[in-house]
Order: sequence, then C-alpha cells, then structure tokens
Amino acid sequence: MPGKRIAIIGAGPIGLEAALHARLHNFDVVVLEQQSISANVRSWGHVRLFSPFGINSSKRGRAALQQSDLPSNDAILTGAEFYAQYLLPLSQLPALKGCVRENARVVSIGKRRLWKGDSIGQPSRMESPFQILVESADGHEETFAADVVLDCSGTFGNHNWLGDGGIPAIGERKCAEWIDYCLSDIAGKDNARFVGKRVLVVGSGYSAATAIVAFRELIQLDSATEVIWLTRKAAATPLTAIDGDVLTERALLTATANALAKDPRTGVAWIAGASVREISVDHRDGLLVHIHTAGEQGGDKFQTLTVDRIIANVGYRPDRSLYEELQVHECYASQGPMKLAAALLVETSGDCMTQSSQGPDSLRNPEPGFYILGAKSYGRDSRFLLRVGLEQIESAFALIAAEAE
Ligand SMILES: Cc1cc2nc3c(=O)[nH]c(=O)nc-3n(C[C@H](O)[C@H](O)[C@H](O)COP(=O)(O)OP(=O)(O)OC[C@H]3O[C@@H](n4cnc5c(N)ncnc54)[C@H](O)[C@@H]3O)c2cc1C
Repeated sequence: MPGKRIAIIGAGPIGLEAALHARLHNFDVVVLEQQSISANVRSWGHVRLFSPFGINSSKRGRAALQQSDLPSNDAILTGAEFYAQYLLPLSQLPALKGCVRENARVVSIGKRRLWKGDSIGQPSRMESPFQILVESADGHEETFAADVVLDCSGTFGNHNWLGDGGIPAIGERKCAEWIDYCLSDIAGKDNARFVGKRVLVVGSGYSAATAIVAFRELIQLDSATEVIWLTRKAAATPLTAIDGDVLTERALLTATANALAKDPRTGVAWIAGASVREISVDHRDGLLVHIHTAGEQGGDKFQTLTVDRIIANVGYRPDRSLYEELQVHECYASQGPMKLAAALLVETSGDCMTQSSQGPDSLRNPEPGFYILGAKSYGRDSRFLLRVGLEQIESAFALIAAEAE
C-alpha cells in the first residue's frame, strides 16, 4: 500500500489534513490547488468560525506542529487566523515538502484507457490509474497519474443563483458586476462598495446574517446606508434559532440579525417569502430588482426595488465537471455522493453540531479509489463541519487500506 500515488484536489483544511495523513503513512502525495493554500478560507478571512480550534484541527496536525505557537483548543478564530496560525504552517511541514502544487486547477479526471461506460461498477476499474488534467493560470496544461483521488475541492467558488426555483433570474448573469456572491468584508476592506448605498441582501443562512450584522456598523458610520433583506420563506424571523445552541457565536449572530430585521428603526427592511424575478440596470437609478411575493389571499404580488448592489448569499454547489468522466453516483437533490447523501437525509436536525461522520461505507461510490471528502461531500447541503471532514479522512484511509489487501 505505501508507495501508492494519491492525488488530492484542493489545499483547503480537509485537503491538507488528508495530505498529512497520507504522507505519514508513506504514500506518494500530490495536492493540486487551483489558487493558493486554503484560498477559500482566506477569501472569508474576516469571518469568525463558530466552532473552536480544537475541533477544527486534527490531533495529528497539532502534534506535527507542536514546536509552533498554536492557538488554544477553545480559541474561536477568524478564517484569516485559522489560515495563518494553522493551515499555512501545516502546508509548510517537512512531511508535506514538495507535495503541494499551487496554481494547478484540476479540469477533469478520467481513467487511463477506460471510458465512463466501460467495466460498469467493476472493481477491476481500479487496475487502471486515474489521469488528471491540470491547468495553470497561464494556460499551461499537463496530466498527473494517480492510484487514488481524494476530491477535497469544496463548494465555495461555485455559487447558487438568485432566481425562483434556483435558476438565474432574468438579467442576473448580465448584472454580475453588481452582485457579490462571496462573503465580502462589508465593514472592513470592501466597505467603499457599500457605505452610503442601498443594498439588497438575499439569503437566510449564516452568511446573510453575517452580512446584515456587518451593515449595522456601516449604518452607524453613514446613516444614508440602507439594507433590504429578502428571504425565500415566510417565517416569523429570517433565521430559525437552534434551541440551546452550544455555539455561542452562532447563537449571538442569529439573535442579532433577527433583531435587526424585526426593528424598522435599524435601517434594515426585511421582506419575507419573496423571490427575485428579474434584474436590470437603470443608468440613472442603479439596479432595478423585480421581486415576487405570495400575496395574503394567495395571489401574486409584484414589486420593484431600486438598489445600488446585491449581496447574494444563496449558497454554493459542487463543481461536478471534475469527475464527469468517472462513475460517480450522485444524489439528485443535493448533488453529493449518493450513499452519504442518503445517510444525511435521515439526519434532519438543522444543527450541524449534531452531525457526525457516517462511517467508511458512506464514502464509497461505484468508482473504486475515488472519494469526495470535505464540504463537497455534502453537495448543496450546508451543514458540513470540519470535524466531520476530519473523521472522513480516517474512514477514507481505512477503505484505501482495505482496497490494497
Ligand atoms: C464563512 C464560513 C464559515 C464557516 N465556519 C465554519 C465553522 O465555524 N466550523 C466548521 O466546522 N465549518 C465551518 N464552515 C464550513 C466548512 O468547514 C468550510 O467551508 C471549510 O473551508 C471546508 O473545507 P474544505 O477543505 O472541504 O473546502 P475548502 O476550504 O472550500 O477548500 C477547497 C480548496 O479546493 C480548491 N479548489 C477548488 N476547485 C479546485 C480545482 N478544480 N482544482 C484545484 N483546486 C480546487 C479551492 O481553491 C480551495 O483551496 C464555514 C464555511 C464558511 C463559508
């Protein structure tokens, strides 16, 4: 088994932890990262994680870094701190020397001399190595061969759309320059885009709540700043609080955002039960956003909002094009790998803290030697936790060891 070539896609927290595991078990490892170390975590570096450092990091990683100044296990770090104090040092460990290739975007993964429809579901597919097409920013292409592939490429760069039913709203794609799909640093380095402006925030998750709370600071700075918060469901509050939430940061965020939405004096106007139909640019007034809400008597109500920008915190989805040529069985609702998705369906709690890894079998799919780990393994389901990803790594390597016997 040692000496097998493992290719890991993505140098996020789970990719790096998996690489360390693999190196300490003497595998030949390459980590292919499209940008730079933990690019996604860095992009939301201003946001504070909910869960403490001790459950976001592995015992293995902390032990390997014992000489460094690690945060305490109960520290609640921002993404930037998690990167600087743990993920970057992890990637620089002697065990990972020469393993991580930055600026190496995986375009597609196939099998040598084996097409998607060949040897359907047969373990014999394992006899043919994976071949991975990789492209750098300057367009240079090369292929890598591997016996095992761990797809740890996350979902963060691949956003959902604003329109009704999840499709792009009319005009949405043309108006992309006025829409932030990522987690902008509203009260920090990106504030010039938002201060004194009228902004529409769409979404009812923690990312939208983080945006709303950040706007509170901007409204204090410049009272001309206005926020309209649009949520799809018509509920009593934009976010549903988790009873007895053990994560105090998360509980506070939920309570603060909900309170801002419910009080019209705060500068936040909440519109519930609405969806975006069309977006267009009016060069005098800014963006015209046509929305639809279900009327009180069941009829439709249409309204046009005039705003300067839109923050679309409507979630992310996996990029499945990477493994299109492999035999991967996906869930038709979440787009996560089927076995894990089926196990997750049973877990109905909205609290990701109640989640645990679903065991090795849930990671298997028809393509032997190919595993989807980390945030991408949950598909569109946003309940993924790093703690679960760390457990998945142990499970995946148990399967890899079993496959080699
Ligand atoms: C704002 C925010 C706060 C969160 N807070 C918490 C928290 O408190 N606790 C918790 O447990 N979880 C939290 N999460 C959820 C989750 O743990 C994180 O999203 C985490 O970063 C997932 O790690 P990952 O390694 O699976 O994916 P990512 O961190 O997304 O890393 C994926 C990597 O793959 C690279 N990549 C993507 N496509 C390709 C490609 N084609 N080729 C090569 N490389 C590619 C990306 O550049 C990136 O570096 C949070 C998520 C967000 C967005």
